[in-house]
Amino acid sequence: AAAGILPLRHAFFLTDLTMAIERTFSILKPDATERNLTGAINAVIEEAGLRIVAQRRIRMTDAQAKTFYEVHAERPFYGELVSFMTSGPVVVQVLEGENAVAKYREVMGATNPAQAAEGTIRKRFAKSVGENSVHGSDSPENAKIEIAQFFTDSDIVG
Ligand code: ADP
Repeated sequence: AAAGILPLRHAFFLTDLTMAIERTFSILKPDATERNLTGAINAVIEEAGLRIVAQRRIRMTDAQAKTFYEVHAERPFYGELVSFMTSGPVVVQVLEGENAVAKYREVMGATNPAQAAEGTIRKRFAKSVGENSVHGSDSPENAKIEIAQFFTDSDIVG
């Protein structure tokens, strides 16, 4: 029996090295909560193999929305975006899975629902380029920054 243990442990070790388990930050936006779509969107997320390892429904403050979208401060839609994100409840989430950042971007679809692929969240649920139901981090680096804006380590249960 002892002879069998070492190869088994070795196999798990190799698996750990090759799997890129990653976390990304997600927001179900006010147009989604308003239409009672949080469960439907979470089902798409889970069916894609992503695990919701933290989740909280909040009303974003003006300061939180401005900080969160600071990179877009010079864009013409910034004011509209901040007022939309504070117009109703949102659900902030941490998603975990293999290549979670890229996978969630794929599941979300293009920013503009008119350009989003069939079956994506935005194709199915988004109302417009602004009211597009979901946010997902665009890189692992930004995912860490965004997660830290809304969650502490003890909020996340993997
Ligand atoms: P994504 O959310 O797909 O990463 P961006 O980072 O380009 O897209 O934009 C952030 C958010 O700003 C979008 O999800 C959308 O809510 C809003 N937005 C982007 N472009 C426009 C636009 N042309 N008009 C209004 N709102 C926009």
